[in-house]
Amino acid sequence: MKVTYSVVIPVYNEKEVVRETHKRLKAVMDKTGEAYELIFVNDGSNDDTGSIVKDIIKADKNVKLIDFSRNFGHQVAISAGMDASSGDAVVVIDADLQDPPEVILEMIKKWKEGFDVVYGKRIKRKGETLFKRITAKLFYRILKKLTSVDIPVDTGDFRLIDKKVKDVFMRLTEKSRYVRGLISWVGFKQTAVEYVRDERFAGETKYPLKKMIKFAADGVTSFSYKPLKLATYLGFLFSFAGFAYLIAVIITRLFSDKVVEGWASIIAVNLFFNGIVLIILGIIGEYVGRIYEETKSRPLYIVREKIGFDAEDDTEAE
Ligand code: UDP
Ligand code: MG
Repeated sequence: MKVTYSVVIPVYNEKEVVRETHKRLKAVMDKTGEAYELIFVNDGSNDDTGSIVKDIIKADKNVKLIDFSRNFGHQVAISAGMDASSGDAVVVIDADLQDPPEVILEMIKKWKEGFDVVYGKRIKRKGETLFKRITAKLFYRILKKLTSVDIPVDTGDFRLIDKKVKDVFMRLTEKSRYVRGLISWVGFKQTAVEYVRDERFAGETKYPLKKMIKFAADGVTSFSYKPLKLATYLGFLFSFAGFAYLIAVIITRLFSDKVVEGWASIIAVNLFFNGIVLIILGIIGEYVGRIYEETKSRPLYIVREKIGFDAEDDTEAE
């Protein structure tokens, strides 16, 4: 059936929330009075999330499921959901109800006014740790400084995009996907709706520190090569400082009786510089590693099972 709206919901170990998420989304989407589909992308959950979604499908034929063969990550799950969507507008939303589904109606209004991308801008974050709030705030601002792409600060992946933007987005095949950045990069007519980010409905964050760091590194390396220039800047700075010090040492040696001494200072300088060199090697490694990822032409994700999509949808996607 032809649908106007596709809602993509990535889920990873969200058994405590999926039923409630479905209920709230259904209530909101029914209000539009237009046809819609809710696509849950099960990102290799190891709890019952998948079977709960299957239960929901039995009672609600607007619901569909894409079941991954393992955990491929939030950003990949979003991409898979978009891939399979057939609506004229696609909405991406987190499963944990931190993004209030009711905001979708405002997004739809803007879309009908003619905007191609309507992203949610968080004016406040509730129930998140101080650490998360500070690191998130800092990260978005540093990224903005580093890149020439206009990626709006304090926005997540909660957004509505028009089909034509989705079609362009799907042609971007890169493996380290920083979805919110890629959608900014694509361009078109974009606008924001502001919202207050709620607390998680239940369960715990699926973004532990390790995933957060990987996510941040993906964001930076996908949109800026400025970190690589750090080596050049530091190189110039330290060469200059070293040269100035060399002259000072020679002058002391020639024009005074003082002996320039100290193995302690040599060790300190050595450690310091080796540290810097290693950090820079690490930064280069981040980029080289991503080049390596890109050159292996493995698929972005592997689907174990797709439920609720009819054959017609598949032919449409070909
Ligand atoms: N998620 C996912 N795969 C992952 C991690 C998270 O699909 O590997 C989903 C998760 O189920 C949720 C969304 O991505 O719907 C955002 O995750 P979460 O709410 O844990 O992140 P936070 O809001 O704490 O940053
Ligand atoms: Mg969340």
